[in-house]
Amino acid sequence: MHYEVIIVGGSYAGLSAGLALGRARKRTLIIDAGQRRNRFAHEAHGFLGQDGRAPEAIAAAGRAEVAAYPTITFLDGTAVSAAQDKEGFVVGMEGGATHTAARLILATGVTDDLPDLPGLREGWGKGVLHCPYCHGYEVAGRRLGVLALVPFATHQANMIPDWGPTTFLTNGVISLAANERAALERRGVVIEETPVAAVLNAGAGLAGVRLTDGRTIALDALFTGVSTRLTSPLAAQLGCAIDDTLGGPIIRVEAMGQTTVPGIYAAGDAAQMMKVIPSAVAGGYMVGAVAHQSLIPSMH
Ligand SMILES: Cc1cc2nc3c(=O)[nH]c(=O)nc-3n(C[C@H](O)[C@H](O)[C@H](O)COP(=O)(O)OP(=O)(O)OC[C@H]3O[C@@H](n4cnc5c(N)ncnc54)[C@H](O)[C@@H]3O)c2cc1C
Repeated sequence: MHYEVIIVGGSYAGLSAGLALGRARKRTLIIDAGQRRNRFAHEAHGFLGQDGRAPEAIAAAGRAEVAAYPTITFLDGTAVSAAQDKEGFVVGMEGGATHTAARLILATGVTDDLPDLPGLREGWGKGVLHCPYCHGYEVAGRRLGVLALVPFATHQANMIPDWGPTTFLTNGVISLAANERAALERRGVVIEETPVAAVLNAGAGLAGVRLTDGRTIALDALFTGVSTRLTSPLAAQLGCAIDDTLGGPIIRVEAMGQTTVPGIYAAGDAAQMMKVIPSAVAGGYMVGAVAHQSLIPSMH
């Protein structure tokens, strides 16, 4: 079947785009592989009206709302290829099926690149936290660590004291200049330069970290920024420009979510530096509306 719009990615950004398109009565296919970035966390915070709700509950409620619009079709699976054709775009699925549409929305998210540090993966989204706005309030006042895995860790180490007493584990990744060290010390940050050998989890929480010299440091939560990569190669396959940012690559979009390839829009983590649910929902709704208007011949 030929659709007016195909949305690849059916999480917060893709569902929000689908909501705009369903309300505009556009024949829309939403393809989703079901690998939401925050699937490791038990609670999601900072999304107005949903603060503290389980991430999967927010996504499931969104999907049910969008599914109620009769022009929306859901397809669970992974899109593995995309190309332009004379009708617009053809999207190929794992397994060989293809689907075509006049417009394409990429809401495919990013994947966190976790290094092979013992205990890190197990604690991810539980005692190991990526973002203080998402999870800081819940551990406020406790013993907090910041683990350097990427060069921008010093930025996080400067922020975390607003949530609690902070130990900065520079982990052989950061070598602090005298002025950076002084600034951290003014914030009360304890600096530990011995690399971390393992993250010590305790059930759904954290016990601390073990250092390479055998010492352990007791901590109640560990913040760490990691680099991300685009989950899907579709934007690159289609020739969309991709920009490098401190946090990883993102699809280049102009203010209304149009990529550098006409007819292709992008939203959510894959297209923005502020990678949180409210931004994904806002961006998705915007590109849904913009894609709809682009289908009206007299409007472009
Ligand atoms: C541990 C953790 C906790 C977090 N907690 C919070 C929080 O409390 N509050 C907050 O605001 N943000 C939080 N975030 C950030 C939040 O998860 C993201 O901002 C949000 O998920 C982005 O939504 P999205 O729709 O852009 O991408 P995602 O939610 O990652 O969804 C992308 C979807 O696209 C699908 N997909 C990708 N490629 C394909 C393909 N080729 N074919 C078909 N489907 C595809 C994926 O399977 C996935 O379902 C957290 C992140 C992490 C890692």
